Amino acid sequence: MAFQSYSYVFKYIIVGDSAVGKSCLLLQFTDKRFKSTHDLTIGVEFGSRTVEVGDKSVKLQIWDTAGQESFRSITRSYYRGSIGALLVYDITQRQSFENLQKWMEEMKENAHSRMTIILVGNKTDLESERQVSYEEGQAFAKDNGLVFFETSAKCAYNVDKAFLSVTKDIYFNLERGEYDI
Ligand code: GDP
Ligand code: MG
Repeated sequence: MAFQSYSYVFKYIIVGDSAVGKSCLLLQFTDKRFKSTHDLTIGVEFGSRTVEVGDKSVKLQIWDTAGQESFRSITRSYYRGSIGALLVYDITQRQSFENLQKWMEEMKENAHSRMTIILVGNKTDLESERQVSYEEGQAFAKDNGLVFFETSAKCAYNVDKAFLSVTKDIYFNLERGEYDI
């Protein structure tokens, strides 16, 4: 078996309302699979994948909140050491978009000040059920200084791109000496 080494380990977290597709995004990114059921797992789940950035290998260790999506219930340990976050809403559920501000506040309270957050509007394959326009997502991202992607965990649309964009951002900041992790 090949020995796999890596230069860095980045901890990411995935946050957002229940049922927006957090676990499916993780599964699609780490396993290239999609599950049509919504499993309310208790506790925290993990996934990992090693990617290449520049000439280095970076292991992404991704924490998924499962069944703890009510505000203020996520413990500090979930945030501890995390350097990247995907903040997810469902483009077919307006409420999940309306709640983004509350998630931002929770992250600001608990996370590393230099955490790279990207905004993800998931379920683009359900275009006919769309309740949040692309422009609204983009405007929220701009106001909060976030990178923005619309994705479909079902069709694997932009999923790799979203995770890799956070990784590149962090990697280049790190190489410039902007963090000590
Ligand atoms: P979580 O609570 O945020 O972890 O949500 P899940 O990942 O468990 O997904 C909730 C439900 O939405 C499940 O029934 C998924 O199959 C479905 N789902 C997740 N992502 C997508 C997507 O991109 N497109 C569609 N059509 N359904 C999705
Ligand atoms: Mg889940």
